[in-house]
Amino acid sequence: MVQISPKLDVFSQFVVDEKMTPTTLTQSSGTQPAGMMDDLIEDAADRAPDISVVIPLFNEEESIPHLYRTLTDAMETYGRVYEVIVVDDGSRDRSFALLKEIAAEDARWTVVQLRRNFGQTAAFAAGFAQARGDVVVTMDADLQNDPRDVPLLMAKIDEGYDIVSGWRKDRQDRFWDRRLPSMIANRLISNVTDVQLHDYGCSLKAYRRDVLQHVRLYGELHRFIPALASQVGGTVTEVAVNHHARQFGTSKYGISRTIRVMLDLITVWFLGTYATRPIHVFGTIGLASVGLGILTGIYLTFLKIFFDQDIGGRPLLLLAVLLVVIGVQLITMGLIGEMVIRTYYESQAKPIYHVREVVNHRERG
Ligand code: UDP
Ligand code: MG
Repeated sequence: MVQISPKLDVFSQFVVDEKMTPTTLTQSSGTQPAGMMDDLIEDAADRAPDISVVIPLFNEEESIPHLYRTLTDAMETYGRVYEVIVVDDGSRDRSFALLKEIAAEDARWTVVQLRRNFGQTAAFAAGFAQARGDVVVTMDADLQNDPRDVPLLMAKIDEGYDIVSGWRKDRQDRFWDRRLPSMIANRLISNVTDVQLHDYGCSLKAYRRDVLQHVRLYGELHRFIPALASQVGGTVTEVAVNHHARQFGTSKYGISRTIRVMLDLITVWFLGTYATRPIHVFGTIGLASVGLGILTGIYLTFLKIFFDQDIGGRPLLLLAVLLVVIGVQLITMGLIGEMVIRTYYESQAKPIYHVREVVNHRERG
């Protein structure tokens, strides 16, 4: 097993096949078409590209030839130096063989084959680890995104935004189990994370790579990259993009995705707001709980002493005790959280801030 030496240390947990390293880019010089194409391809292989197109792919054999054609057309028309990094997320069909053929013909293509199906987020992370471009553009392999929209995203990047999210304004998916849950989720995510986007789920997005470096991806958090990037200070915007119905193969997700997105939202919210101060979340609720419990207790004691009432069998007594116990536990949890967070930051010498720029920077003596 070999771990590709990633430029971004955070992605190192993903194991890729040792046969497909970036050297593929330079191994295929014998089979290139002649003329201008040749120059373009040589160019991309030699110098760092402006744009890295990262595509996670799982069992999409029928789409691959079309993907290659439309993407190459769109990117060549656009004219900026680009590379394509396809991450084969453990496909069990002929996808990898087809991709390998393409990479042998076109040195701008890198194929990363994961050892098994790690999921779309992991596939993105593996792709980001390989990307060399200043800007990383992500899209699906199933032809639902339109590569001709890349210039739209790039225009916003050139305006100065760090993240540009595609918005499938005219989305070609079923209403009840796709568009409706997604509409609700987008509202909720926008409100909770304070990054207002119409379409978190759209894969067609562009990121400045230096911002992406600070984003840690786990689970299925790829949908939340704009929110996560905004938490480290990235600026986010969106543009309307095309969307097509799936032509080949089937979707890899069902309705159960909705629940996972909601749980992920809690994680993102917590990490974004309180990651450096867990005692503030747990402590606030804990103190409120203890306070309420003590007040209830005082009330019951009052009844007992001054009115000689029997309080032993009252549900309120149970509630008072419960509130105090739970409250104390929550406060303790907050304190443990504080210790965990210190270990997290200090063990890796991580700062709790992100600097955009220092004017007149001077080395300290
Ligand atoms: N995908 C992947 N690994 C997975 C599931 C999906 O790499 O475990 C890829 C898939 O091949 C496609 C993209 O992620 O390129 C989006 O998946 P899909 O089209 O199934 O999602 P949908 O468009 O239905 O939301
Ligand atoms: Mg799709």
